[in-house]
Amino acid sequence: MSGHLDETWPDVGPNSGWLGGTGESWERGPYFLDGLIPLAWLLDDARLKAKAMRFIDWTLEHQAPSGIIGPSTNDDWWPRIVMLKALTQYQEFTGDERVIPVLDKYLQFQLRELPNRPLRDWGKFRWQDELLSVIWLYNRTGSPYLIDLAHLLHSQGHDWIAQYADFQYKERITAEFLKLQSGNGLKDLALSTHGVNNGQAVKTGPAWSLVSASSADRDAALKMVSELEKYHGLPNGMFSCDEHLAGLNPSQGSELCTVVEYMFSLEQSLAITGDPSFGDRLERLAFNALPGTFTDDMWAHQYNQEPNQVECSLHQKPWGTDGPESNLYGLEPNFGCCTANFHQGWPKFTGSLFMLSGAQDSGAQDGLVAAAYAPCEVHTVLRGVAVHLVEETEYPFHGSVKLRVDPATPLEFPLQLRIPGWATGTHIAVNGQPVPEPKPGSFASIDRSWRSGDLIEIAFPMKPRTSRWFHDSIAVERGPLVFSFGIGESWVKLRDRGMTADWQVFPTDRWNYALSLNPDSSQMVVAVEEKSLSGAPFARRTTPVSMRVKARLLDEWRSEDGAANPPPQSPVASSDQEETIVLIPYAAAKLRISAFPLLKSNA
Ligand SMILES: [Zn+2]
Repeated sequence: MSGHLDETWPDVGPNSGWLGGTGESWERGPYFLDGLIPLAWLLDDARLKAKAMRFIDWTLEHQAPSGIIGPSTNDDWWPRIVMLKALTQYQEFTGDERVIPVLDKYLQFQLRELPNRPLRDWGKFRWQDELLSVIWLYNRTGSPYLIDLAHLLHSQGHDWIAQYADFQYKERITAEFLKLQSGNGLKDLALSTHGVNNGQAVKTGPAWSLVSASSADRDAALKMVSELEKYHGLPNGMFSCDEHLAGLNPSQGSELCTVVEYMFSLEQSLAITGDPSFGDRLERLAFNALPGTFTDDMWAHQYNQEPNQVECSLHQKPWGTDGPESNLYGLEPNFGCCTANFHQGWPKFTGSLFMLSGAQDSGAQDGLVAAAYAPCEVHTVLRGVAVHLVEETEYPFHGSVKLRVDPATPLEFPLQLRIPGWATGTHIAVNGQPVPEPKPGSFASIDRSWRSGDLIEIAFPMKPRTSRWFHDSIAVERGPLVFSFGIGESWVKLRDRGMTADWQVFPTDRWNYALSLNPDSSQMVVAVEEKSLSGAPFARRTTPVSMRVKARLLDEWRSEDGAANPPPQSPVASSDQEETIVLIPYAAAKLRISAFPLLKSNA
């Protein structure tokens, strides 16, 4: 859909306000570009670049004499915050000399204008995303006014660090709590507890620490994700938000915009703080929540996904304020923000697989960092030497990662490898020679003179393990993947939508299983089956890995109006017969149970 959206959805089509038309003129054009630009340039795809260039050229060539950019029909700061993110990426890919003068003129205009027309609603709660662009420009021009602008954004923007220093939103946020009537969705209480805003907020501390130089600000990101996980965390790596923070029940939803924004925040937090745990969280989203909320061909997506998702239909749902279409797979279920915004997920993740270490101009400390793992190829320059690196892997499905390093001339530099927190017993060899066993939850640094053809082989341990969730329910994990029971699916088309369609999905199986396993035992899983990758990696039909576990049906666990009731408090008892059921990766199961009640031993 990313490559064709403008052909089938008028909101980013030829009449977009960001192309000078009279159509949608707010956030959707910039949202689309924020993902289309890295997609087009990472793929080096001329067709996609041409699509992006129409928006970029219009924006760069229609700056008003005042300095404001974008459609003249609104002067909202928020959509322009997104366009700044898009333009900075475009400049990094192309070096287009028009970008920096346009940004400079716009940000000077904003510094003059903000005292009279301060940040409001979305812009007030998402100012930290603009801060990244202000710092980006400062690093290129050194203009002191940009530091003044950073402080002004900080003083007008919502204080996310204070919100999480004394976190108050520990329960499911209801419409009654928000007193949400028409128009009140933009009140501060609603915006403070809004899922997408909180996903974007996670980067606030690290980004602001670049201005404040405060280590407490840097550490604020870890505090934020810890609170979100403690009170709203779900097995797929998300926090619940449908549309506001929604507690720990795995039948609550998470919005796709929040998935991709949280991923971007984690990428920024990892880059700025160097804390490898952000990489673990990033992979959990990238390999579970993100692909799990699309159809296999990525032509349809959900607004809300649920870890325990037993039906995607127009039935009444447990959402706080979202509408009945929110977990349908379609073009724009519930609301079209995700349709415009989801494109950034994969391309920015790909662009974050490798990072540079140390200050770029500090000489000897420069090196490469494997921040997350996926098949990729890197072309970069370290201290004037071209370095090419190829990563071959079927991670996250299989544990073997091969990195071939190919500098143009022999070059000494540290190559740092993120070792996930779960990866106890990882083995690394360089040209066949083992290196000391790395510590889980750290970066393993290999500092040597690299020569063309050097080979690093990493073997991550892919042992099944469990984690505890709501009502002491159990999730089964292996590497960065969460495993789910894939409920039989009946897909029923609701309506055609141009090049795509909207779908309801109904269950054809019973799903109310409790697991019979000893979480502490290494023998808890009956068997793991591995296959080579073929076809779409997250498709149920071709899933490269599955496992079998023992389970019993639990009659008292039912669904109401298309949503599973919360898993009963574990441990549970069942008089049903023991069966062996198959678990597949979360994203392969569009109807699924991911948080299971645990049977009493000998139950
Ligand atoms: Zn959205």
